[in-house]
Amino acid sequence: MSVNFKCLYCDRYLLSRNAYSQHVKYCNELKELNISMEESNNDISDMVSNINEMSLDSDDFSQIEELQKEFENFDEILSESLQNYTEKSDTNMSNILE
Ligand SMILES: [Zn+2]
Repeated sequence: MSVNFKCLYCDRYLLSRNAYSQHVKYCNELKELNISMEESNNDISDMVSNINEMSLDSDDFSQIEELQKEFENFDEILSESLQNYTEKSDTNMSNILE
């Protein structure tokens, strides 16, 4: 039974010292790469959570509530503005035609 070499960084076993030293070198680089990627991911998620907290704490949130109240009358507002738009465009058309 041959002695296996266990990697320091993962649970992999290598059959020879040569393979072990090559794998550990590769595995160490891979681990450092993953750690730096995790750190940058944490920075991004921190930024996102900060932005979310900012928007929740700011006055914009109360403005959104006001917009939602106005939104109940959205159909009326829309039809009124559409009527206004149609009347104006009709006037413009007649002006152009005359
Ligand atoms: Zn490894």
